Amino acid sequence: MGPDAVIEVSGLVKRYGAFQALHGIDLTVERGEVFGFIGPNGAGKTTLIRTMLDLIRPTAGSVRVLGLDSHRDAKAIHSRAGYVPGELVLWDRLTGRQALEHLAGLRGGAGASRIDALAERLDVELDRRISDLSKGNKEKIGLIQGFMHEPELVVLDEPTSGLDPLVQQEVFQIVDEVRERGSTVFFSSHHLDEVERIAERVGAIREGRMVAVDTVAGLKARAARRLEALLAGPVDAQEFRAIPGVRDVSVSGRHLHLVLTGPIDPVLKALARHRVDSLSAPEPELEEVFLGLFRGEGGERAA
Ligand code: ATP
Repeated sequence: MGPDAVIEVSGLVKRYGAFQALHGIDLTVERGEVFGFIGPNGAGKTTLIRTMLDLIRPTAGSVRVLGLDSHRDAKAIHSRAGYVPGELVLWDRLTGRQALEHLAGLRGGAGASRIDALAERLDVELDRRISDLSKGNKEKIGLIQGFMHEPELVVLDEPTSGLDPLVQQEVFQIVDEVRERGSTVFFSSHHLDEVERIAERVGAIREGRMVAVDTVAGLKARAARRLEALLAGPVDAQEFRAIPGVRDVSVSGRHLHLVLTGPIDPVLKALARHRVDSLSAPEPELEEVFLGLFRGEGGERAA
């Protein structure tokens, strides 16, 4: 394991009876990264997160977290990491404050002094019973317990699914601060805007297999992109068909249309031999990239 790897997953397999949820996952997350983990329902996101934190045991393979063995050193990992589960099960009869103070006590008091400030930022009432809180407000209590002890690693399972946009922004801000402190954030999400806003790298999982691990920009660069140009005069389609990574070239009068799966530069150089009156090559949406990956196009297995 490299000195800067905070999460290292190797050959991870998880079976639930006859059903195989994870098919040999390899993944490394470095210190100081905000890593987004995305996949359709049932892809295996929660299973991987729960295995990483030793809440369930793998069928095969290994996980190291913060340089420690996820199973043997689970106690040490839990005191240095924060975990915000998708559905937090808390003591319903306690107030938020009582629950958070109890959790801080279990960690030797770490984080107790930050409870009020975080509650204010996330706009949640601490002195009501948890059973009386709305879903979103319960999630906020979950977020406070995950961040309050300033852990070296925060693992969040769909952290903002029930939060309103203002509170989501505040969570993103807190994540930025965590990264600025040099800590690492691993979060699963269905929301591409969220991934784009806060993650540097993204892992995409489908049917228990990683189909891509890349930066947001790198993922977009792999996606097919349409280019249209209006030229001053007629153009020979063949000139563009010969460029690697170019397909579906069509020419109609002065209009050129093509689909680009490689770098744009050679196409621009070819266009520069002509007079170009207008050009359009919009960046693909991250959503298109993921839809392609989840349909099985352009993933690492397909590459
Ligand atoms: P979602 O986005 O819907 O939360 P996910 O990517 O987190 O999905 P998991 O909860 O990890 O997906 O589930 C992966 C697969 O494993 C699913 O097919 C699920 O039905 C199955 N699974 C999860 N937990 C169990 C279990 N305890 N027993 C049997 N199968 C399970």
